[in-house]
Amino acid sequence: MGLRAKFLGALGTVTGSCHMLHDTRTDRYYLVDCGSFQGIGSRQLAEARFIGGRIGGIECSRISAVFLTHAHADHSGMLPHLVLNGFRGSIFCTEFTKWATLSTLYDMAQFPEAGYDQDVVIKVQTLMRSVDEDEKYCPFVLGWTRKVNPKEDHFGFNFTRTSHLMGCVAIEFIYNDQPEGTSTKDNERIRILFGADTGNIWDAAKQGSLVKDVQPPSPETQTIVLESTYGGRVRETLSFRERIERLADELESAAKDKASPVIVIPTFAIQRAQEIILDLASVLHFIPERVPSLIKEGKPPIIVSSSRMANGIGVQMRSEFFRLNGKNKASFANRNHPLLAEARDETELRLLLSHLFCGESDPDLSAKFDIQHGQNFGPLREPDRCKIILGSNGMCAGGGIVGILSKALQDADATVLLTGYQSSGTPGFTLSKIAKGEIDPKPEKFVSTIGIKVEDIRATVRNIGGLYSAHADQAGLVRYCLKKDRDDRPYLPVTAILVHGDEESRDQLREALQKWDLANKKDSRGLKEIFTPSMGTGWYDCKTRSFVQDSAPGDSERLAELTIRYAMLKAAVERHLEGDLPAEQIVKYLQDTDGALKLGHGLRQGHFSP
Ligand SMILES: [Zn+2]
Repeated sequence: MGLRAKFLGALGTVTGSCHMLHDTRTDRYYLVDCGSFQGIGSRQLAEARFIGGRIGGIECSRISAVFLTHAHADHSGMLPHLVLNGFRGSIFCTEFTKWATLSTLYDMAQFPEAGYDQDVVIKVQTLMRSVDEDEKYCPFVLGWTRKVNPKEDHFGFNFTRTSHLMGCVAIEFIYNDQPEGTSTKDNERIRILFGADTGNIWDAAKQGSLVKDVQPPSPETQTIVLESTYGGRVRETLSFRERIERLADELESAAKDKASPVIVIPTFAIQRAQEIILDLASVLHFIPERVPSLIKEGKPPIIVSSSRMANGIGVQMRSEFFRLNGKNKASFANRNHPLLAEARDETELRLLLSHLFCGESDPDLSAKFDIQHGQNFGPLREPDRCKIILGSNGMCAGGGIVGILSKALQDADATVLLTGYQSSGTPGFTLSKIAKGEIDPKPEKFVSTIGIKVEDIRATVRNIGGLYSAHADQAGLVRYCLKKDRDDRPYLPVTAILVHGDEESRDQLREALQKWDLANKKDSRGLKEIFTPSMGTGWYDCKTRSFVQDSAPGDSERLAELTIRYAMLKAAVERHLEGDLPAEQIVKYLQDTDGALKLGHGLRQGHFSP
């Protein structure tokens, strides 16, 4: 009788998040996330996931429920495929995650390469249960424990905020392995926390963020499944003031000495666009003296060219500011954002958010912030006037931004500001190389998508992505996993399972966790062990906190595992050829593969000790 977990994706890579839980008392299976793979090898990985209508060796129809951490495609993008393969259980998530996920899935369904159509997305929609809206079930407070199945007392879950994205939650499972009806003390229950993606907001008021602070794991959590995207990187954490001043400097130099400057900002529709809108408005409102060239002919219009941003996500984001939970507190949105805090009451806040995010123009506010939502924004440049144009998507691989860039990039008065991660092979990647003064060896995608040659670019290209990251850096991840934040309860030492990062980041994070734990014995909750699972690692027993070999994997599991290994190896070699991955990493991967193959389905000796 117990709870065990298996890790099915985002292992040694940042995409394809998917984890499985097995309640051996009831023989029910659950998933945490079902994300799509992106980048090299993604097609093979996607095919391998559902071989024979199974996922992780289990028939999709046998999965009782999915717990969804957040709306990003690498966590939610394969829900339609799960449904196509027979899944009919509930999908538990937050209200914002529900609508943001559906919005992305409906968008994707228009493209044949997605592999599903709108009807499948409608099925996904009928299965989704937003835990924080479901008042009949029980009042929702972030972190409030509820039953996984209403008729079963032994198994509960709770949501806590990670501040990575509006609506994003870490999900903790709490399991009583004593006979049904036996009560156990809090610290005797089995607890495993899936940390989702960890954000970087530790002081929302000071950082001027759209979302509230990270809620740290509970003192009783024993196992933390921790992401490691930036496990090897240390970044400075900027205050609100520092961030808008740096943005102001970029805007000023983009406008300086130009007759009719155009500033184009490719941005991701979910949250990044709204963050940029708020920051642009904040520059114009709080520090106009830093941007004299930008405002010399009056405040520039900020044009949000994507209608989806205006009509879908913006509206959902606005409602987060007014949604109340059981303790009368809005769940995710940070009302202490310096610009939003200027609204004197709820009516003013609603007007401001509607004006900034939702395309509902308010005449009084228009004098302060000339925000226009819509596809028709006239000529790219206007005589003697600056224009700021936002468009999605952030990697310039499709959407409204493509047409805008094809003109703007040929214009010497234009500046393009990149705002997020650019994966290799996208037009945004080519532009990020140009911003660094480097050359993309393979700009084919740029030419075929944007429609102009790289040598015809006359615009200035800058990357301001460093101002905006949704992910915690190494210090933030260590803090989330290990730092005690309250004195009134004893902490249990944690076992960390590192996922969602390449091998190098995972190794560096492992080292950083061990080092910090040794150096900060008083502040650390204590580190028991660190695991870095790979495909085919087997089941993790949440009680003994160790991995156990799958007893007898069937042919379909073996085939799925080998296909996934093949796809990952192919991706690694391609990344090496692009100069993106050192050869030692591939050798290490091959050794892992070899070890695992020899054992059939098992563990490589010593692989799991920290
Ligand atoms: Zn994410």
